Amino acid sequence: MGVLVVTGGGRGIGAAICRRAAKDGFDIVVNFAANTGAAEAVAADVRSVGRKAIAVQADVSDEDQVRALFERAADLGPLVALVANAGITGNTPGRLQEQSVATVRRVFEVNVIGAFLCVKAALARLTDGGSIITVSSTAARRGSPGEWVHYAASKSALETLSLGVAQEVADRGIRVNVVAPGLIHSDLHAAAGMPDRPQRLAPRIPLGRAGEPAEIAEGVAWLLSPAASFVTGAVLPISGGF
Ligand code: NAP
Repeated sequence: MGVLVVTGGGRGIGAAICRRAAKDGFDIVVNFAANTGAAEAVAADVRSVGRKAIAVQADVSDEDQVRALFERAADLGPLVALVANAGITGNTPGRLQEQSVATVRRVFEVNVIGAFLCVKAALARLTDGGSIITVSSTAARRGSPGEWVHYAASKSALETLSLGVAQEVADRGIRVNVVAPGLIHSDLHAAAGMPDRPQRLAPRIPLGRAGEPAEIAEGVAWLLSPAASFVTGAVLPISGGF
């Protein structure tokens, strides 16, 4: 089927996307930032279902590291898809006026510049008819007041980037779509010092609970598949209605 690069594929939503896509026949490059053990475990799971996989460390905000990531991907086979999933909140919940320039700059570097670098590198190698999915957040529409407005703003930028590039590459048959998770169980909340955040916010969610990474991976699998052959420039919220 070809190679899928998943940025931030070592943990959380990215890991679920890797495991799900392997079942659909993709060979997978599991990108990660620092946690080698987690990414290697995901790669092992991919190999256990008969697909090829490598775990590759690269900071998506660093152009040279992104170039090296996609060179490693080329060693595995022809690139057919990218899921630009790596993203951070900055780990400092609070009002916008309390955020430091360094935090806001880093969040935009990873969430926006990082996605730009990966999309750019992918487009140089993607086979015609390939697919790109970026992972946003329903925060882009809510604004996330009191927690991480800067993060929400970065996801809004990511959605617009995806919408624009979808139109630019449609003539190559390349589809570019966005998945916007709502509140999802992952390490992201504890990393920001709020391990109980999914439970605390669950009552606000119409379906009454936080989601699981595997539920995001199902939407990604559909968008990557021929079943979504007429879908591009779309934003798919997977959020329990929140
Ligand atoms: P997570 O559990 O914190 O995992 C983040 C992953 O991204 C890890 O594999 C991490 O690598 C990697 N990563 C972080 N910075 C990176 C960088 N600079 N370069 C490359 N990889 C990097 O997060 P998650 O909850 O799965 O979130 C995944 C995506 O979904 C993010 O874009 C996030 O904004 C979005 N999202 C999450 C939620 C939610 O409620 N969880 C809701 C909406 C949207 P290491 O393992 O090496 O640290």
